[in-house]
Amino acid sequence: MAFDTRSVQDLAGRPLFAAGLGRWLAPEQLVILAFHRVNDAMRDGLTCGVAEFDRYCAFLARHYDVLSLGELLSRRDAGTLPRRPLAITFDDGYQDNWRLAAPVLQKHGLPATFFISTGFIGTQRVAPWDRDITPPPAWMSWEEVRAMHAAGFEIGAHTVNHPDLGTLPPEQTREELTESRARLQQELGVDIDLFAYPFGGERNLSEANREVVRELGFRCCVSCHGGTNALDADAFHLQRVPVSDWYVSPHHLGLSLLTGRA
Ligand SMILES: [Zn+2]
Repeated sequence: MAFDTRSVQDLAGRPLFAAGLGRWLAPEQLVILAFHRVNDAMRDGLTCGVAEFDRYCAFLARHYDVLSLGELLSRRDAGTLPRRPLAITFDDGYQDNWRLAAPVLQKHGLPATFFISTGFIGTQRVAPWDRDITPPPAWMSWEEVRAMHAAGFEIGAHTVNHPDLGTLPPEQTREELTESRARLQQELGVDIDLFAYPFGGERNLSEANREVVRELGFRCCVSCHGGTNALDADAFHLQRVPVSDWYVSPHHLGLSLLTGRA
C-alpha cells in the first residue's frame, strides 16, 4: 500500500476510534452513506467486497447511532436524534443487496434504506455504467424486493429508468417519479415517500425537478455527493457520502466524516 495521505488518515483514525473518541469528537451532523453493490465478483468504485462491508458495518455499529433514513428524518423533526445519527443507503436495486449485503446488515443489527429503480427489477437490463462488466451484475427480482421489505428494510424510490433529472423535462420527471412510486406501493403495500435522484451529482437535478419531488409529496430528496449535513438541513437538499474504494478502511471514512472531508 502506498504511504499516501489516505493511509496516513487510516493510521491516524485507528487509535482514535479504538479509544472510543470518535463518538465524542464528532460534530453534530446528519451522515447518510450511499453504497451500490456488495460482492466479491468485481472490483470498482461502485462495489464493496463482502468482508470489507462486514468491517464497515462493525465499525458503524460501534461508533454511530445507525437509523433508517425515514427514522432519522422523523427523529430530527421531533428533536429526538441520538448523538451520532447515521443512515446506510443503497441505490439502484442490485441483487447482491439482498443476497450478500442484507445478511451482513442483519448480523450487525443495522437498518438500511434501498432506493430502487423499478424499471431494472426482474429484468436483464444492463445499466449504461455497467456495460464493461462481464457478466453484468444482476438486479433483484420483485420477490426479493418484497422479501427485503418484509425483513424490515426500508425501500425508497429512484425513478423507473434512472434518467438524468438535470436535463429531463419536469413533465417526464413527474411520470418517472409517480410511476416508480406507484409500482413500489403496489408491490409492497405501503406508502413510499423517500427519494434519491439518479446519478446524484450536483448537475443531475434541476431546480424545477427538485420542486417536482417536493410537489409529489416525498419527504426528502437525497443526492449522492456533497458530504455530511447540518442537523437542520433542508430535507430536499440532503447530501450523501458515497462509500467507494477511495476509502482504504472504515477508519479512513470515519476520520473523513469527523474532519468534514468526506
Ligand atoms: Zn442510481
